[in-house]
Amino acid sequence: MNSLPQPAPPQPHTGRDSARDDWFETPDGLPRGYIQTETLTELWFNTGTICNLACPFCLEGSGPGDNRLGAITLAEAKPFIEDAVQLGVRQFSFTGGEPFVVRDMISILDFALERGSSSPTARSP
Ligand code: SF4
Repeated sequence: MNSLPQPAPPQPHTGRDSARDDWFETPDGLPRGYIQTETLTELWFNTGTICNLACPFCLEGSGPGDNRLGAITLAEAKPFIEDAVQLGVRQFSFTGGEPFVVRDMISILDFALERGSSSPTARSP
């Protein structure tokens, strides 16, 4: 398991005269929320829009024969999984459509597990 770098602790407020204060604090001196852009916690894949069901409430509008988004392949997923691992990803998630009608889905999950995700998750919308 990769360990993610922790955010730098907030520094004491020393006045409103530096650009750093504008980045980390509101004009009232309160700490701002921020995203660590150099790390990645979770990566989601859309595995394609095809599904074996056709639920009327489907957020994706998926169904049998729906190929608006083609089924993802292991070869397409691998470089994104590799990049995500380098960025410290902790979880891969897969949605569609129905991920388990995708021919390469088990191979993709195996690869994600092998590369370090402790809990790849696949679900329908
Ligand atoms: S993706 Fe999920 S919600 Fe959509 S049709 Fe398939 S099973 Fe139903």
